[in-house]
Amino acid sequence: MLHRLTVSELVQRLAARETSAREALQACLDQIARVDGQVHAFLSHDAADALAQADAADRELAAGTTHAAKPLLGVPVALKDVLSHRGQPLNCASRILGNFISPYDATVVSKLKDAGAVVFGRLNMDEFAMGSSTENSAFVTTRNPWDTSRIPGGSSGGSAAAVAAHEAFATLGSDTGGSIRQPAALCGCVGVKPTYGRVSRYGLVAFASSLDQIGPFTKSTRDAALLTGVISGHDPRDSTSLDQPVPDYLADLKPDLRGLRLGLAREFMVGGLDPEVRDAVAAAVAKLQELGASIEEVSLPHSEHAVATYYIIATAEASANLARFDGIRYGARVPGADPNELYERTRGAGFGAEVKRRIILGTYVLSSGYYDAYYLRAQKVRTLIRRDFLEAFKKVDAIISPTTPTAAFKVGEKTQDPLQMYLSDIFTISCNLAGTCGLSLPCGFTRSPRLPIGLQILGQPLGESTLFRIAHAYEQATPWHRESSPLA
Ligand code: GLN
Repeated sequence: MLHRLTVSELVQRLAARETSAREALQACLDQIARVDGQVHAFLSHDAADALAQADAADRELAAGTTHAAKPLLGVPVALKDVLSHRGQPLNCASRILGNFISPYDATVVSKLKDAGAVVFGRLNMDEFAMGSSTENSAFVTTRNPWDTSRIPGGSSGGSAAAVAAHEAFATLGSDTGGSIRQPAALCGCVGVKPTYGRVSRYGLVAFASSLDQIGPFTKSTRDAALLTGVISGHDPRDSTSLDQPVPDYLADLKPDLRGLRLGLAREFMVGGLDPEVRDAVAAAVAKLQELGASIEEVSLPHSEHAVATYYIIATAEASANLARFDGIRYGARVPGADPNELYERTRGAGFGAEVKRRIILGTYVLSSGYYDAYYLRAQKVRTLIRRDFLEAFKKVDAIISPTTPTAAFKVGEKTQDPLQMYLSDIFTISCNLAGTCGLSLPCGFTRSPRLPIGLQILGQPLGESTLFRIAHAYEQATPWHRESSPLA
């Protein structure tokens, strides 16, 4: 049952020498062998490399290194296939990277290693993080461990499913418009999108650079606070990284919410919201009130434009970022008679349909004659969306909403209709446009089938501590996060 522990529980056992890092990793590897044929969370994992790291952690534990010095010493943590891990494959679930091997560690990977974690595995995702269901992976569709006929969410579907199926104690993903919070909600785990600039993006393959942030998936809020603390901090190698001290997120976890003011966004209670999701969120709001928080309505008047604004800015940035995959510098190459033919053939064969759609859209909105009408206007609306949030945060400490309009949908249900798929992120996208932080945690289940429902908490810029305090207090007072998926 070792694989079912939270990170914090595992750390206690490791510290007490009741178990070893090798046993903890072996529990993950055994669980992968048992269930990943059904879940497909992992694209690959290098067991030998991970076991060597675990043995090194065990030697450090034996030599007396404590978890005060290295908070994740001996804890296995797995990575989305968009993060560089030196010596390991890096594909972004795309064919275009071929047999590319990372030449260096992403800053978050160095930070995990410095904290003593055993870093392993390549987790499935939508190709280049474009999608909401993990069906856009070029390799395999990850399945939701609560019901394998359903999607796990996306784009970090593998990262969410691995935690929900207890194949890893925690994982990292990336969130450009909801790709951590949405799959966390649909798989019943905790997922955090930190404030833009809180976590270094060095070594994260860029999708939309002004929106992307890396964050953790965990089984509890305490674990999320721990992991966020480990990966946060200033990094001179990312020019958008914030030079701000990292608080001790664990120190702020309290059992009550007295004095906190929470906002409900009028615009978020929209049509299309599943009644079971609406009821679960309403019950969660009542629980937060019981815990001492006061609730008031706030308004985010420009949020109706968030999805449209996002799909202009994100595709524009993606079209520029993905220009580097040209068959010359990285990965796969399809030869051609001249450079243009080589580019066209390589990109034609290497990218999937959704990535091509985004590159075409992004190139269009940036092209002369359309730039002012689309891209520039979207940037202006983005500013209005950010101002809405800053205005609301003058009145409240955090904003509460559903994470997603529905629970996990069936594999194939939305693949023919990209616009329906894009609406999966209706509640998560504004947070990225505003550059603020957000967290999703379990707040109930649908009745039949029994599927997790996520509660989203949106915080002020650098307001992660408040998110953790609210989520932790809620978790202490509710049973949801303790339930395990049938595949666990
Ligand atoms: N689903 C959104 C998209 O496809 C968000 C993806 C993400 O956050 N990486 O762009």
